[in-house]
Amino acid sequence: MKLDSYIDAGTLASVEFANKLTPGYANGKPVAEIDVLQAVREVVAIDPPSVAAVSENDADGFVALAERLRAIFVDIDRGDIDDAAELLNNILLEHPATPYLAKEEGVWHLHHHPANAAVLPMWTAICAEGLARMIGTQNAHRLGICMADNCDRVFADTSKNATRRFCSSACQNRTKTAAFRARKRDAEANESKS
Ligand SMILES: [Zn+2]
Repeated sequence: MKLDSYIDAGTLASVEFANKLTPGYANGKPVAEIDVLQAVREVVAIDPPSVAAVSENDADGFVALAERLRAIFVDIDRGDIDDAAELLNNILLEHPATPYLAKEEGVWHLHHHPANAAVLPMWTAICAEGLARMIGTQNAHRLGICMADNCDRVFADTSKNATRRFCSSACQNRTKTAAFRARKRDAEANESKS
């Protein structure tokens, strides 16, 4: 199975919404004040009509969506797939996808929603379906929360062996450096004792 056949745009957008729109810690520092509209536009950038459609009225809704998505990663990270599935089913019931064929430059494409769909419910459905597919294809273990100190950002693991534990290479390197320093400190302490 190809990696990108189960990690889709909805899963990647879920990661970005959770990381850009929820408070907490990122790479050792508290998350700075969030410019919600700017962050949402960055996440939906793959769909230019969505970027144009996002307005101030959607800001609170996207923050609420990000909190719900984050809660799903938290459940999965502690191995509680049943709870994550229940949260996702609730969102999917509230915001069903409405598949729609649109003709673009003479070619028919199947989309999640009609082009004039409202941007918040559309992205809610896209994100929930992406994460639901991860669970439904036995790939929930690829969703997780960074294990570095002072970081709680989420990730979707696209590596072949599904061994990712950090949100970023910055957090991975930070953790390695801290472990190296700790070992060195222990070694020096042992030397001074002898
Ligand atoms: Zn991290």
